[in-house]
Amino acid sequence: MLKYCSLYSGSTGNSFLVQSNNSNILIDAGVSSKKIVDALTSLNISMDQVNAILVTHEHIDHIKSLATISKKYNIPVYANQKTWNALGDLSNKISNDNKKTFNTFENFKVADFEIFPFNTPHDAAEPCGFNIYNSGKKISIATDLGCVTKELLEHIKNSSSILLEANYDPNILKCSRYPFLLKQRISSNIGHLSNNSAGKTLSYLYKLGLNQALLIHLSKENNFPELAYETVLSEFTEHKNISINVAPRDNPSRLFEVC
Ligand SMILES: [Zn+2]
Ligand SMILES: [Zn+2]
Repeated sequence: MLKYCSLYSGSTGNSFLVQSNNSNILIDAGVSSKKIVDALTSLNISMDQVNAILVTHEHIDHIKSLATISKKYNIPVYANQKTWNALGDLSNKISNDNKKTFNTFENFKVADFEIFPFNTPHDAAEPCGFNIYNSGKKISIATDLGCVTKELLEHIKNSSSILLEANYDPNILKCSRYPFLLKQRISSNIGHLSNNSAGKTLSYLYKLGLNQALLIHLSKENNFPELAYETVLSEFTEHKNISINVAPRDNPSRLFEVC
């Protein structure tokens, strides 16, 4: 049985859990180690039950406690080479034994999961998302996306569940107090994904068998959970027999079972 949950998600910090019958892996560790331990404890998972941490990219909201957790709890960390390079000093704090390197677009195994990392359009060294396979199910995690390219769609299609970024509402962003250059960065093709684009993507994936989506990485300033949900739903053109949820910023979502 494959399960997943967002421990924390938003522009302030991200960490996600994927669970099989026997294993647990984290995707990113972008909040304090205490917060991650607290969230896992609330799910009855101890740190020695965490098999690995996979890293999407080196931005601070994804790696804040990566080295601390790896060191303290002796947990292996998986990242591609350019991300390791971009982590700089932080990567030196992780023991060589716990430093694992994968190649984007090459399958690898972690515990009883099969992982396929695919690249994502974002302004980091070599950002990626993950397809994770177990028990005949496929789940995709795709966050920090400036846009959704055809290539990206090819990778995330046919998943039963997806954790997809819905970062901002374009109208709120336009009027927000963010500096002009930051607004440009967010809405660029290597920035973040709008609610509307997330909705169009999910509507397309739904026709290919998607039945669950968790909206993640909402901006604190330029979005609201209700608005993200409504906007995404409004992009669906046909009957919506799909479960769509919004990941809370400061506490874990419920544990979803992939079906
Ligand atoms: Zn980022
Ligand atoms: Zn981010």
